[in-house]
Amino acid sequence: MAQPDVIVVGAGVVGLSAALALQMRGLDVVVLDREGPAAGASAGNAGAFAFTDILPLASPGILRKAPRWLLDPLGPLTVKPAYALKIAPWMFRFWRACSPARVEGSTVAQTALMDLSKAELEPFLAATGTMPMLRRDGNLQVYESEAEFRASLPGWEARTRHGIAFRHMDAEEMAELQPGLSPRFVKGSFTPGWYSISDPRDYVLALADRFRAGGGRIERAEVTALSPGADGVALDHGWRAGHVVLAAGAHSHRIARSLGEKIPLETERGYNTTLPPGAFDLRTQVTFGGHGFVVSRLSSGIRVGGAVELGGLELAPNFRRAEAMLKKAQAFLPGLDPQGGVQWMGFRPSLPDSLPVIGHSRASPRVTYAFGHGHLGLTQSPGTARLVADLVTGAAPPIPLAPFSSTRF
Ligand SMILES: Cc1cc2nc3c(=O)[nH]c(=O)nc-3n(C[C@H](O)[C@H](O)[C@H](O)COP(=O)(O)OP(=O)(O)OC[C@H]3O[C@@H](n4cnc5c(N)ncnc54)[C@H](O)[C@@H]3O)c2cc1C
Repeated sequence: MAQPDVIVVGAGVVGLSAALALQMRGLDVVVLDREGPAAGASAGNAGAFAFTDILPLASPGILRKAPRWLLDPLGPLTVKPAYALKIAPWMFRFWRACSPARVEGSTVAQTALMDLSKAELEPFLAATGTMPMLRRDGNLQVYESEAEFRASLPGWEARTRHGIAFRHMDAEEMAELQPGLSPRFVKGSFTPGWYSISDPRDYVLALADRFRAGGGRIERAEVTALSPGADGVALDHGWRAGHVVLAAGAHSHRIARSLGEKIPLETERGYNTTLPPGAFDLRTQVTFGGHGFVVSRLSSGIRVGGAVELGGLELAPNFRRAEAMLKKAQAFLPGLDPQGGVQWMGFRPSLPDSLPVIGHSRASPRVTYAFGHGHLGLTQSPGTARLVADLVTGAAPPIPLAPFSSTRF
């Protein structure tokens, strides 16, 4: 078979965005996915371009909340007992990444990638014909007490330092923005610069269509190993390319291992329930930060989801977690109709310092990594695509890439 310039492994939002950015630079690109487009986390996420979410998850704030959360077996954070030993080294790295100096470093890197992604988003949507899918509804983070609101203030001060616009609100202002919110929420913080996509799965499928229309091929193939040589990279099933981009989400570290790199990628499993579109009159995304979930308005329905379950890639899902969030959502949005929901579980691909891996493999400059975006893969896909295209074509990337290197661990 003819050797393409680039093979992208993974047809999620990161892989397909990168494939399109490479195609726009005139390269012949093939995408390989073992299941086809939108098979992974990119299909069922909350659909937010959360550009204002610059603070890393690994932070002192999460360490304060974690003990309380871990006490509730269906709460926002759980470690599956059968997986506890396996994930202990990752959790140790996570804990180390929570020091104030590391948090500041991650915030600076995260802000640079967010700013780049925000700048790239609209040109990318325009070039791919997906602009009509963009929504600018913002996000309302709500608090149940003055104390919870006050505890959030250092985070908002950090956002102010990084130039992010927001507005704190009292209950009356919140009711105007989002009618039907339970009176238990006494304060809120609204970020207008938080955008969303009408439906994340439809978006990835639209990107796949656009890629094919531009002459790209998407083939089904499971990739297990990469073998870079002087003039290209060999993959499974006889595939070869001048360059490979590894964007297989939460499974990427398994393939990177074939290059001798041990990257501490884990999965933060997340759950949701998508209710029919008429389930609630939602005007903005609402984030219940103290409970670790969000409610989002998509063209396919009202999605109630979030939670972090540390349980690896193999253990069976526990959909009682989705039910627990739905029950809370009913209490928090009393008019919400809980009937007719569809449940889903997905694998967020997460590094312990909350930053993705974007850069060449240590083993070869012919292999470029683009994975590990955790809670922010949709948000950071336009910036990641730009960086991958720069790296593959030898252009100078617009932001420093050292914080995203696979060798930083
Ligand atoms: C509940 C939940 C809510 C979320 N909400 C948001 C949000 O609002 N905003 C946001 O920005 N992010 C959100 N995220 C995170 C986001 O979904 C992920 O960061 C993102 O989808 C990762 O994209 P990806 O392309 O790297 O991986 P994936 O979408 O998982 O794609 C990886 C692809 O690689 C393929 N693959 C895997 N292994 C192989 C192999 N060996 N060979 C060939 N192909 C392979 C898979 O089939 C899959 O299609 C959320 C995640 C969850 C779980």
